[in-house]
Amino acid sequence: MFFLKILVINAGSSSLKYQLFDMDTGAVLAKGNCERIGDTTGVITHKRPDAEPYTATPALPTHDEALALVLDLLVSPEYGVIGSIEEIDAVGHRVAHGGEKYKQSTPIDDEVIAYLESIVPINPLHGPPAILGMKACRRLMSDTPQVGVFDTSFYANMEDFRTIYPLPYELYTENKIRRYGFHGTSHRYVSAKAAEMLGKPIEELKIVTCHLGNGSSITAVDKGIAIDTSMGFTPQEGVPMGTRSGTIDPTVIPYIMKVKNLTVDEVENLLNRQSGLLGVSGLSNDARNISEAAEAGNPRAILAIRMLANSIKKYIGSYIAEMNGIDALVFTAGIGENDRNMRQMVCADMDYLGIAIDEEVNLTCPRGSAANLSAAGASVQTLVIPTDEEYMIALDTAKFC
Ligand code: AMP
Repeated sequence: MFFLKILVINAGSSSLKYQLFDMDTGAVLAKGNCERIGDTTGVITHKRPDAEPYTATPALPTHDEALALVLDLLVSPEYGVIGSIEEIDAVGHRVAHGGEKYKQSTPIDDEVIAYLESIVPINPLHGPPAILGMKACRRLMSDTPQVGVFDTSFYANMEDFRTIYPLPYELYTENKIRRYGFHGTSHRYVSAKAAEMLGKPIEELKIVTCHLGNGSSITAVDKGIAIDTSMGFTPQEGVPMGTRSGTIDPTVIPYIMKVKNLTVDEVENLLNRQSGLLGVSGLSNDARNISEAAEAGNPRAILAIRMLANSIKKYIGSYIAEMNGIDALVFTAGIGENDRNMRQMVCADMDYLGIAIDEEVNLTCPRGSAANLSAAGASVQTLVIPTDEEYMIALDTAKFC
């Protein structure tokens, strides 16, 4: 029985998102975001259910000041939801990368932080802010247990023939270049929810989960274990995303560098920030804008959408082959939960594999809630399940209390 309050922290380079959960009911007591940390003026938005959001623009020079402000707000008589910081039983940190070491959620101590610092070279964007968030919490809440929940740990059981790249083997042993997978907390959450919705133990199910958002990944979950996933050494691999290319012929990269005379940083920027839906459409990284343009007949928007749907379909097909079957297909995240046309395109002409959706249900199922889209008689259950990574982090963290 839970009677715990868990604070979930997701620290980015200039932001700190938080949610305070009451684990007795699963309710979010308060949540918010500190943005523009490091700028001269920061921004905080603090929300509680049934109350107007509080916003302010204080100076937030570092993550320490941001966290101090969050803690003040949580206990403030006017905007707070708890009487004192001691009421928080533990803090769960979202950590994108746990390297090869952290195969499950782990209490944070000096050793964990030292290891995460040692893998910053392979996690340069997300590693440093996560470490800053942990250090701030340890300084300001030194008596409160801290737990790291790693996006990569869901993939800890992937077999080597699926994680090692066909490159000189020393690049793995010496430089740790291998597939790690990302979004694991989301895929873990929705696969568990899918089993719950179908009323079957996850150990009896073969599930393909499609997390389709600004960043997208597809995962094959066989009997509760992630056996393969589309993201790799970084979140760049896999299906085309908002601004990331996803998988391309690797030789294109040195070729672009030569013909466009680009530096390593410039080509990295091109692949990460100027490609994907934005690059192909030339319009936007936002699927909503691209859908509107496609409906108006814009050929490059139509191309971007067809490219994404086809890529998702290919991953689903390959994971069905790897698992020798599929019981459930799950759509989640911004596009997966909301974009009916994308779900329809992905699921079209898949009846050979047992996937068929009821068009009416697909079009009318309410946004933001779970739904079973399967057509009558389809052998595969196609589900929409809103993801909740923060709650999954809180659940993992609560296990250490
Ligand atoms: P996420 O990264 O999960 O926040 O998802 C962001 C993506 O979801 C963006 O490409 C949005 O355009 C897309 N998205 C959000 N809401 C909708 C919607 N109602 N219809 C289509 N796409 C949406």
